[in-house]
Amino acid sequence: MTESTTATDTITLTIDGREVEVPRGTTIWDAARTAGIEIPVLCHEPRMEPVGVCRVCLVDVGEKRLTASCIRAAEDGMEVKTATEKIEACRKGLVELLLADYPLDAGGTGAKTEPDELRALAEEYGVDWNGGAARNGGPGSNGRPGANGTAAEGTDPRSEAPAGPDRTVPVAGIPSGNGRPIDESSHVIRVDHQACILCDRCIRACDDVQVNNVIGRTGKGYETRIAFDLDDPMGVSTCVSCGECEKACPTGALTLVDLVARPEPPTAAPKADLKQVDSVCPYCGVGCAISYFVDETENQIVYADGRESPVNHERLCVKGRYGFDYPNHPQRLTRPLVRKESAYPKGPLSSETAESDGRKRRKKPGGLVDYDEVLPHFREATWEEALELAGRGLREIKDEHGSSAMAGFGSAKCSNEEAYLFQKLIRAGFGTNNVDHCTRLCHASSVAALLETIGSGAVTNVFADVKNADVALITGSNTTANHPVAATFMKQAAKSGRTKIIVVEPRHVDIADHAEIFLQIRPGTDVACYNAWMHVLIEEDLLDHEFIENRTEGFEELKALVADYSPEAVAEMCGVEAEEIRRAARLFGGAGAAMVFWGMGISQHTHGTDNARALISLMLMTGNVGREGTGLHPLRGQNNVQGASDAGLIPIVYPDYQDVNDTEVRKKFEAAWGVDLDPKAGLTVVEIMHGALRGEIRGMYMMGENPFLSDPNINKVRKALASLDFLVVQDIFLTETAEFADVILPATTWMEKDGTVTNTDRRVQVGRQALRPPGEARPDWQITCQLATAFGFPMDYESPEEVFAEFTSLAPSYAGLTYENLGTTGKLWPCPDPENSDGIQVLMSDAFPTPNGRGKFVPRPFEPAKELPDDEYPFVLNTGRLLEHWHTGTMTRRSRALDAIRPSPRVEVHPDDLASLGLRDGDQVVVESRRGTIVLEALESRRMDPGTVFIPFHFREAAANVLTIDELDPHGKIPEYKFCAVRLRASEATSAVVP
Ligand code: SF4
Repeated sequence: MTESTTATDTITLTIDGREVEVPRGTTIWDAARTAGIEIPVLCHEPRMEPVGVCRVCLVDVGEKRLTASCIRAAEDGMEVKTATEKIEACRKGLVELLLADYPLDAGGTGAKTEPDELRALAEEYGVDWNGGAARNGGPGSNGRPGANGTAAEGTDPRSEAPAGPDRTVPVAGIPSGNGRPIDESSHVIRVDHQACILCDRCIRACDDVQVNNVIGRTGKGYETRIAFDLDDPMGVSTCVSCGECEKACPTGALTLVDLVARPEPPTAAPKADLKQVDSVCPYCGVGCAISYFVDETENQIVYADGRESPVNHERLCVKGRYGFDYPNHPQRLTRPLVRKESAYPKGPLSSETAESDGRKRRKKPGGLVDYDEVLPHFREATWEEALELAGRGLREIKDEHGSSAMAGFGSAKCSNEEAYLFQKLIRAGFGTNNVDHCTRLCHASSVAALLETIGSGAVTNVFADVKNADVALITGSNTTANHPVAATFMKQAAKSGRTKIIVVEPRHVDIADHAEIFLQIRPGTDVACYNAWMHVLIEEDLLDHEFIENRTEGFEELKALVADYSPEAVAEMCGVEAEEIRRAARLFGGAGAAMVFWGMGISQHTHGTDNARALISLMLMTGNVGREGTGLHPLRGQNNVQGASDAGLIPIVYPDYQDVNDTEVRKKFEAAWGVDLDPKAGLTVVEIMHGALRGEIRGMYMMGENPFLSDPNINKVRKALASLDFLVVQDIFLTETAEFADVILPATTWMEKDGTVTNTDRRVQVGRQALRPPGEARPDWQITCQLATAFGFPMDYESPEEVFAEFTSLAPSYAGLTYENLGTTGKLWPCPDPENSDGIQVLMSDAFPTPNGRGKFVPRPFEPAKELPDDEYPFVLNTGRLLEHWHTGTMTRRSRALDAIRPSPRVEVHPDDLASLGLRDGDQVVVESRRGTIVLEALESRRMDPGTVFIPFHFREAAANVLTIDELDPHGKIPEYKFCAVRLRASEATSAVVP
């Protein structure tokens, strides 16, 4: 069998005298690469389908004519020569032609330092391209015959061509019939149309790799050029600045704008000046493998590029590619700060809700004050003084009020090692399980439902396996904005025709444009919608009976509940036609393999756990767990929200979800950490804030978390923070939360330390230090150890690697993983054989990790949101993220390109609603809820259903969470960020700060 397979499926050819065996269908170009022979090419790269337009990859296969190796299939017995005299002469001629009117002032590779591929070829073949350009009129020459209409037949039009348009002037639009100007309308990419050789790599990068479909061609003959949308300037087109086109461009046509100030022109520096450091993107849970190119002298990253990895195959989105400069922002905290005595209010305490006895010096409830107004309240201190003060302040509270008065918020922005150390200090040092982090605010309800029904909160399959799914249900997720690179895999799967996408979502999000079916349901009606799907699946017997019988329990109860949820019964409530619900359910039920991806539109509700339960039931009854192309995938938000949860930043579980209520488990951790541990589960994020308001939580340690902007109903949060007796904040900037601190400890960014992070797929990856920390800033893991020691619970580790070893020894899912075997692309946990395997991609193939091995149906009726719109507050507010920003904007708003692309907050409103309010696009609008008021600009948007509005929560000057409600899901304790009632009216205000 093996022999015949080899004979049938592979061929053998000779390339430059070397025998090469490759699968049948392999191109000569790929076969040569297999043998380590690089054939030059300009129009092709391995991630793309070849098109054979540049002809630079010509080879001799013994035929009359040379052939383009990138599109010619290798044949059995073929003899290929890749570098004969004739071939080299042809290539040189081609390069000369391509450079004939190449502008001298083309951007080269912009901020990058290596020569572009065309110039590199020119150097290799000794083409005097500068001389060629000079013949065209030198710098500033347009040189295109059709551009000026002056080309006389039989003459060299280039030698006669007058100067073209001023190439240094940014264009507001692309003039037609006036040559090929420079387009500098984008904040990140400079387009020099004159340097374009029309190889179409950028078009294929945009269409096939990122599937954004923005770039095409326009014009005819010599006037042909690439175009964005309908020939718009790049910066005003629908381009999402993923940078894939710039990465693909082999010439100086699409080049990276220099995003960092460097003393010398970057093009003057040779490549060796930049050091490549392999890391992981610090933003979303996709966890793209990234390389930073670092100017070590200036201690700054000059550019970033995607690395080859199963996660992203070199792709990045705008945040990963261009949001790398925040570590060098002048507002970085570089020395420890302590609150000045004069910054504490004098006289009796006046908090409305806190008790007035026994409390120490409360801070005045702050507000959205200016950064420069806050710093004067603090003074610089030495590390010794700051740590002593911080340790003593926290210790005094514990001694006076007990462990239950203590709490800590860790961060999903920190590494696994830092999360592990943080929860160890809170549990073993402070003596409480009051430790939580922002997973509470994104997927706590998903995790609660997953643990309850299938026994594990992790994804059961990786997102890239969508290519093997017949159907992918994407729900409650603006995937192209929140998980952009994961979305490229989904869009590619849909484009291939293999996978049909169903999107269920209250907003018309971009991924819906790639869907077979889009159900734009009313906000908060998910349970009703999915109960109706299940009703149809049962009614039409689109079930996997064997799976239900052998691997689940509770199906009859579910069947009884959904009997009342016919599509007709819920259609009006959900705002979609009953037949559309049936069509979606049938498509889903007819799939041989289906995956479900969900985001915070599912989880951030007071019935978020019910939403997730419904999705899980859907997958169980159709047997869509445990096989290729199937699976449950809650798309995790932060870069390390999976890892921070795995490492134990959760009040009810130790690392690796080991129950704090389980005596045996507790004994294991007591033995490992050498202290008695609190047997009671701790409080969650919002409960801790409520506890502070009641005076029960008095001392807190916060590492990299900014609840002032991220928690709901922040007017309440500010009072809670101001009520604390003692607050230690460890962060990279003076966040809104740090304004309330007694001691602020300057930490490092992700680029300034080593550590591991775990992405949404469960892939554990190592990030390496690219930059030196500024001033006296220290890595978080070191600060936590030093604070622990100052508190009286000594912790001492040599390196993050040593911490990782302790963590993995206590976390069975991470067993066997080491920095060494994680390598450059990481491993999926669990990974029983780390030396030889990438880890287990598809979980739960045979049984669920529940006590009886079965998955459980948990039927739930529809329940409405807690605060419905009424006459007084008639609109439903939905909050979320924008593509260019991340959470509270601490990093992205200090990133030059990202802030420039999306500088200010806007409320998205349906045009009919705007008109009925007498408002127009761009007007300043007051948005009010029962909890607060903000002012921001109106954005007319047909993505919204009438009666609904959307506000991103990144902007402190119009903080969406001033408006949101702090009602919690009873199981996941997650707040209802996605639904509250608001009203809108015109504002006279020109600045947008009305907290
Ligand atoms: Fe970074 Fe996420 Fe964008 Fe990848 S998709 S580059 S991880 S923000």
